[in-house]
Amino acid sequence: MSIEIQHVTKRFGGFTALNDVSLTVPSGELVALLGPSGSGKTTLLRVIAGLEVADEGAVLFDGQDATDRNVRDRRVGFVFQHHALFRHMTVFENVAFGLRVKPRQERASASEIRDQVEELLGLVQLERLAARYPSQLSGGQRQRVALARALAVQPKLLLLDEPFGALDAKVRQELRRWLRRLHDEIGVTSVFVTHDQDEALEVADRVVILHEGRVEQTGSPEEVYHHPSTPFVYHFLGNVNLFHGRVEGTTLHLGEFTMELPKGSSPTDVEAVAYARPHLLDIDHTPPDGRPNFPASITDVNAAGPVVKVELATKAGAVVNVELSQERYRILGLQRGMEVFVSIKDMQLFTSAPGIFGAGI
Ligand code: ADP
Ligand code: MG
Repeated sequence: MSIEIQHVTKRFGGFTALNDVSLTVPSGELVALLGPSGSGKTTLLRVIAGLEVADEGAVLFDGQDATDRNVRDRRVGFVFQHHALFRHMTVFENVAFGLRVKPRQERASASEIRDQVEELLGLVQLERLAARYPSQLSGGQRQRVALARALAVQPKLLLLDEPFGALDAKVRQELRRWLRRLHDEIGVTSVFVTHDQDEALEVADRVVILHEGRVEQTGSPEEVYHHPSTPFVYHFLGNVNLFHGRVEGTTLHLGEFTMELPKGSSPTDVEAVAYARPHLLDIDHTPPDGRPNFPASITDVNAAGPVVKVELATKAGAVVNVELSQERYRILGLQRGMEVFVSIKDMQLFTSAPGIFGAGI
């Protein structure tokens, strides 16, 4: 089932929680709603589910207005962060619940229900724990039961609100990969809410970044990570170094360095900030040609990981973070206290004037 959200605005009293939000979720896609706490993710999910009514705009399911359809008709499955399983029921009974409370004419026979529950428990890899009670499960296992319970009613749409938020990092990582495989297997359209960038970038086909009730950017994980359309998205999706400069005409001045902006840039005279992620910076012992660079001293090196993290201080005292490969780090022989040159391999410029310059160097 596809979902189309058209110009949805939702207010709570005088507070606007969703502000003219539009987005499309094609059938079978897994879309992540990503944003900081309070950005409107849960509210948007509740509007999609029909648990909250938008003040303006419409929600279409398969092209049809779903605004007036009640929650039951929407065939939506829910999983929340703190999904209260029924404590006095076994895993099996929890999953069977949704099938047993169906109206009599739609309800399957007891043996059909047993088969369906066993199949669902197989899907979430809990068939051997069917007789346990929720208190006898780990946090990750409980969330898998919650997911099986949500899937029992064969939803056309699966809505997940920070389903792994309460679990520790390692379990979360396992579960998100597992969820991705499960999603592909059953082909249900899914909307996944998270405030965790890594989770969104790893699990989703598309990421929708929310900020103060607005959609800041929509795109594939690759697009939003490598081509953030706003400074907010750049900051939100990971570590970033900022370098202040100026555009005069079509020339960028960044410290001592100047470069011509790409052809077609319209001349302006504005402050500019260059954004570069740590892996887009390099370190050399002498100033490299043709790249913006500046002297800095190494204040810290952390080589325990897949990449080496180097922290430096500029002459003005600003902190700069660089990530190098282990190989590059060894070749350079870097140590704390060394005076080196940091250069920018690639960056994105944001100015107060409309438009962004992607400055590939
Ligand atoms: P998120 O899930 O991104 O953390 P929410 O959608 O829960 O954000 O909330 C967005 C904003 O709307 C928050 O500032 C929150 O306080 C407010 N809000 C949410 N629900 C209500 C409500 N029922 N009444 C008043 N304010 C609400
Ligand atoms: Mg929320």
